[in-house]
Amino acid sequence: MSEVLRNDIFRYTAGLPVQQGFYRLCKSKPENPQFYLPNLLVSETELDSRLPAYFADYVVSSSRSSVHDYLVGSVGAFDETVRGLINAGNSGINIELRIIPTLANYMELDKIIEFSSRVFSNINQISLMGLESIGWARKNWSSIFIEHDSYSEKILSAIGSAQRAGIPLKIFNYPLCHLPERAWEFATQSISDWKNYYPKECDECTQRSSCAGYFSSSKGRFHQPPRPIL
Ligand code: SF4
Repeated sequence: MSEVLRNDIFRYTAGLPVQQGFYRLCKSKPENPQFYLPNLLVSETELDSRLPAYFADYVVSSSRSSVHDYLVGSVGAFDETVRGLINAGNSGINIELRIIPTLANYMELDKIIEFSSRVFSNINQISLMGLESIGWARKNWSSIFIEHDSYSEKILSAIGSAQRAGIPLKIFNYPLCHLPERAWEFATQSISDWKNYYPKECDECTQRSSCAGYFSSSKGRFHQPPRPIL
């Protein structure tokens, strides 16, 4: 089944070429069309004409299929993701590889990067994504969330692996006060305005203007306390 999720996002599951299927469902061409396939988002970009017309982002939760399938909630998801990544890379599609650290995989962040850089081609960004407390993650929060500070060394090790592989790494959705200072230069102010939240303690923090803060969905028991940097 194929469907339009928003006026610019299309979930595509049929066997047609993505664009062909997409435009069948749209009366006019959206400005920034995005195509969702299982575990794959393909976006058209005109930002740089030297780049292929599409880039794709994939979540790789582990280099072990059992862990990846558990975190994605679907048996066989790892195999599907690996196939998709190989096909996308071999097709010249620019790939953003996303890793969401959890209790199940925080020990292997560097291994996931090493595995991916050896097996897949055309990865041009690795994104470490802070877990958002919505949907399945919210329901299973106590069994999957790990306090950021408790795996600082693993984050630094992941940065080292990405650097050795020559792939740029960015960190999204982490408050700076819960990241090791050596990782700050990789962190981005990534949370959209409409779902961004800074507790009142952040008002006195010198890093507020460059900090991602928290998801508004994390208010209450789903975030770690802010620690203003003075
Ligand atoms: S105190 Fe608030 S603004 Fe400062 S680093 Fe932490 S979350 Fe960011």
